[in-house]
Amino acid sequence: MLYILSTPIGNLSDLSERAKQTLAECDLVIAENPSYSKRLFEYLNIPSKKFIQFAEHNEQQKLPIILKELHGKKAVLLSDAGTPGISDPGFRIVREAVDRGIEITPIPGPNAAITALCASGLPTDKFIFLGFVPKTEIKFTNELKSAEDLEATIIFYESPHRIIKSVGFIANSWPGAKVVVARELTKLHEEFIRGTAAEVLNKLQARGNIKGEITVLVSFK
Ligand code: SAM
Repeated sequence: MLYILSTPIGNLSDLSERAKQTLAECDLVIAENPSYSKRLFEYLNIPSKKFIQFAEHNEQQKLPIILKELHGKKAVLLSDAGTPGISDPGFRIVREAVDRGIEITPIPGPNAAITALCASGLPTDKFIFLGFVPKTEIKFTNELKSAEDLEATIIFYESPHRIIKSVGFIANSWPGAKVVVARELTKLHEEFIRGTAAEVLNKLQARGNIKGEITVLVSFK
């Protein structure tokens, strides 16, 4: 059995009872970053387990070892934070496990994109998740244009160093688009910066130094 287990994106109290129980009962942990995940086990007072590390760059190479280890075990797949496989490594392991008839069970929980969307105030009936977006204005704008045609709320992940640039790109092509910058979700300094693209750009520029983890949402409706 392979559990795809979501972990908190900031607030440790967001870990579900079912997630805690699964972590306590599992006998193998496949983790993006074992030293990071071991801290979660310590926090929960769960004795350490056998860990196998995997990451985007070595997922393919680690696959045979992981698949061999999975047989007959209660294994848990963990990324550093949030839902494994969502802008995080993991999908290849799940795909191969599915192909081999290994039973997969998701243990749902935090995910930055959905957490940001539900509180954004932007339409939630149809949305498109772009993950991490291209860095050049032309590629970025083209990607948003294809999403614009779908009339869906756009969600993407952005680094604090690039947020002013990205919102600037949106303001250049769609100054009136509704933008929400969701920052530090579930943490002490959680905030939502809302407005038109031009307004949000002004607010960000006025601050200068933006820190923390950021999810951006855009609506053309
Ligand atoms: N797998 C994760 C999930 O389910 O949300 C996402 C992993 S991705 C590598 C990390 C990115 O998610 C961050 O760079 C940021 O853009 C976004 N993110 C993660 N935690 C966040 C938070 N607390 N508030 C806002 N955005 C967050």
